[in-house]
Order: sequence, then structure tokens, then C-alpha cells
Amino acid sequence: MSDVETFQLWIDGKWTDAADGGTFDSIDPGTGEVWARLAAAGPADAERALTAARTAFDDGRWSGLTSAERAGYLAKVAELIWMESDRLTAVESHDNGSTERKAGIADMTAAAQTWEYYAGLLAEGIEDQVFDEDMPVPSKNIVTRQPYGVVVGIVPWNFPLVAACWKIAPAIAAGNTVVIKPSPLASASPLLIAEICSKAGIPDGVVNVVTGPEASLGEALVQSPMSDKITFTGSTAVGKRIHEMCSPQLKAVTLELGGKAANVILDDADVDVAVNGSLFLVYFNQGQACISGSRILVPRSMHDEFVAKMKAGVDEIQYGPTTDPDTTWGPLISQAHWDRVDAFVKGAVEQGATLVCGGGRPEKSPAEGFFYAPTILTGVSHGMDISCEEVFGPVATIIPYDTDDEAIAITNGVDYGLSNSIWSSNLDRAVAVARKLESGTVWINDGLLLNNRFPFSGWKSSGVGVELGPWGLEQFTRIKHIHVGEHTGRDEKYYVAIVLGEED
Ligand code: NAD
Repeated sequence: MSDVETFQLWIDGKWTDAADGGTFDSIDPGTGEVWARLAAAGPADAERALTAARTAFDDGRWSGLTSAERAGYLAKVAELIWMESDRLTAVESHDNGSTERKAGIADMTAAAQTWEYYAGLLAEGIEDQVFDEDMPVPSKNIVTRQPYGVVVGIVPWNFPLVAACWKIAPAIAAGNTVVIKPSPLASASPLLIAEICSKAGIPDGVVNVVTGPEASLGEALVQSPMSDKITFTGSTAVGKRIHEMCSPQLKAVTLELGGKAANVILDDADVDVAVNGSLFLVYFNQGQACISGSRILVPRSMHDEFVAKMKAGVDEIQYGPTTDPDTTWGPLISQAHWDRVDAFVKGAVEQGATLVCGGGRPEKSPAEGFFYAPTILTGVSHGMDISCEEVFGPVATIIPYDTDDEAIAITNGVDYGLSNSIWSSNLDRAVAVARKLESGTVWINDGLLLNNRFPFSGWKSSGVGVELGPWGLEQFTRIKHIHVGEHTGRDEKYYVAIVLGEED
């Protein structure tokens, strides 16, 4: 892929330039060079995409299909993702710096399985619930769920392919149509997913993707009266802005936001297992994950052994070009993000932390690109900036503690509440601790494993609403109660006594 690739917008089942012909560049974080040029959508393109989605919803070309028919299309998308996985893997890797190894295994599996899961859920049928009632009058009561209409999905750069699939698949499974706006730092794979939807036979206008560097593009989509529901994944700061923009129209919104996960090692944990798990939790995707377990809480008695073993694990990491299948370490998304992560590390050292390893470019990484070394900081106390704010980089902060209650208090002592992990050989004890942690997900002796079948949600400043599972599908529906009176109306005692004021 030495030549610069070009990507247009995907609107109404077709590739199309931005109305004003504008473009912007995407830099490959692994090389620091421009790898793709994309269409820069403006307000006219936002309007075009929303109109396409609105028309496709209103004429019933998609919402009018049965669940079983929609399930067939979703299953086909999953099949095509597997068939096109080499292309998708390469694009994801160039666009956001994922190693091809990680994109090809983790992202491709998560993306395809999302479509497979929602196809399966739809095939089982999403039935109305029907209740027969006698009081206050005989009636049949239908509780049904209906699509909102046009869903706007805004996704971040760290997992653009998976995040887009998590929004498109359940939204259209429920019968909605969508407009997706990816991050300007990594926009290409959601465009390819939209094209795959078309190849699978999903009608034009059901899935649209607009790309562009300006925040005003996302704002236009959120604020338009043509959009009925917003689903956003990104930072807490932008999530709050989205929430504000939804407020005047009381527009429904789901927010999946930042995190500051703790990885709590209980004193009965197997140290080697906990170290392996912690390496995965903190360094997967170079720590650029909302669920990264960057705060590692270690019993004081285990501290030195744990740190030595973490350091040994870091020494095993394989550096190289992101395209090499043996490479296990990728770059950060941009130079600006590199500088931000580095400032956090330097700030922590100034505040008294000790740098065990990392803090800067890794010696063995390629000379170009935005690589940052896997970093371990000890001497970190709760309350330092680095232990409260989301760093979103490969920085493990080791925080010693003395009692379970102290570990629970530290874990819960941040604004975020997305996920946490616990390592222990006593599962009852670990579950008891898990119940006390303030987060939407808690893993015990595992981490980062998001399963389509189970809910993923942020507590506190980590979000509003839920993704995945049947709960995620419900977020793309409105509930309706249809009361069917099964009586003769005027003759009923209820009407006579209460409305007409007559005696029986
Ligand atoms: P970001 O908030 O900067 O951007 C997210 C998306 O919002 C991008 O598409 C961006 O272009 C768009 N955007 C920015 N300003 C906007 C505005 N004013 N109106 C509408 N849209 C706007 O986040 P990011 O840097 O792309 O991603 C990293 C963040 O995402 C981290 O905080 C991470 O924790 C979070 N994240 C959360 C989850 C989750 O499921 N909870 C998953 C992945 C990432």
C-alpha cells in the first residue's frame, strides 16, 4: 500500500465526493506518513446523508421487512466481513496503527461476531408481549418495541471497525437506518463496512457514512431534527457536549465514554497468572482502550515480586513494522497523543512516581511512527493526576494497598466507572468484591473480554445506556403499549360510573 488510497463518502448506497470537493488526509501512525485521502463532508453532506437515511426509514424499505428477513441480511454481512478480512485488517492497521496481528485476530473476530450475534437474535424473533387483563375492563395488552427511525452513530479512532459494527448492527437489526460519523484520525473501515452492507443486499440509504475533520460535522448530525437517536462512543468531554446538544429536543442518547479501570490483585492471587493478565489488560492496543486496566492495585507484600515480573513481561514484547505478523507492539495514534501521554508520565515522575521502564520511544521500535514504550510507574499514590485521569496510553501505574476495603475505595475513588478486574484464587471472595465495585463490567481472573451476549455499560462519567446483548438492541427501540379493549364500551360499568356519571 505505498500509494495514497482515496475514500469518498458513502451515501444512499453510493460512493460520492463531498459537495464542495473537500478532502483531508489520514496518517499511518506506524510510519508517520499520509496513507489515505478522504472526503471532507460539510453541512450539505450531513443533510444528504440524513435525508437518505430518513427516506429509507420512512418508506419502510427496511423497517417493513420481517425480523427473519433482516436476520438474513445481517448474517450475510458477517460472512462478507470474514471474506474481506485481509483488506479490512490492512486498512484498520494503516488507519489507526493497530498491528495487523491484533487487527486481524481481535478486531475482525469482534466485528464479524457482532453481526452474527444480532442475526441470531433476530432469527429467534423479537416477539411482542401480550397480556390479557380483566381490570379495570377486559382488555388485551400488546407491549411492542419499535425502531426510532434515523440513528446517528459517532465513533472514536481506537476501535473504529468494531465500534461502528457495535452501532450499525443492532441499530439496523431493530429496523432503524443509520448515519455513521467516524473519527477523522481513523475513518476508513466504517466506510468499508457500509459498502459491505450494500454488497449483502441491504437497501440503499439504510447505512450511510460521512467523514470529515471538523467537529461541526458531528454537531450537525446530532442537532438535526432528522435524527431521532444518537449513539456515541468517545471521550467523556465530548460525550457531555453531545448530551447537551440532545437536550433541547430531548433526543434519546446512548453514551459510551472514557474509563480508568483498576486491576485489583487480591493477596491470594496466583502472581504469574495475575501478571500475564495485567500485561494484556494494560498494554493491549498500547493502552488505547477505554477498558485498559492501567491502575494496578497490588498487595504491599506482593509488590516487589509483581513489579519484577511485569518488567520481565514487558521485555518479551516484539517490536517491528505494524505489518509484520510477529509484531506485538504498535504506535500511538498521533504525535499529539504521544506528547500527551509523555506529559502524563513526566508529570507523575515530578509528583513522586518512579519510572521502572519506558517513558519515551522504545529503543527497538521502527525509527518512524508514533511509538511509545511500554511504561511502568511505581510509587504511585491515589490522587496523583496519573491515577485519576484517563491517560489512554501504555502506562501501568502500580499502586500498593493493605486491605480489601482500601483496594475497593481506591478503585471506586475516580469519576469513571466503565470496567475493573480482580485476580484471586477464591472466586466467592472475588465475586463479593466485584459486587462492591462501581462499574458496568467487572472481570474476575480475566480482562478486556467483551462478549456480544452480555451488556457493556458505563457508570458515573463513563456513560449513559448500554451496548451489546438484547439490552443493546433495546436501546435502538422505543417501547409502545397497545391497549385493545375487549368489552362493549358504553355499557361497561367503568365508563358509566366514571365518565358518564350514570349509575349501572
Ligand atoms: P473523542 O471524544 O475526541 O471523539 C470521538 C468522536 O466524536 C470522533 O468521531 C470525533 O470526531 C467526534 N467529535 C468530536 N467533537 C465532537 C462534537 N463536538 N460533536 C460531535 N462529535 C464530535 O474521542 P477519541 O479521542 O476519538 O477516542 C478516545 C476516547 O474514546 C477515550 O476517552 C476512550 O475512553 C473513549 N472510548 C470509549 C469506549 C467505550 O465503549 N466506553 C470505547 C472506545 C473509546
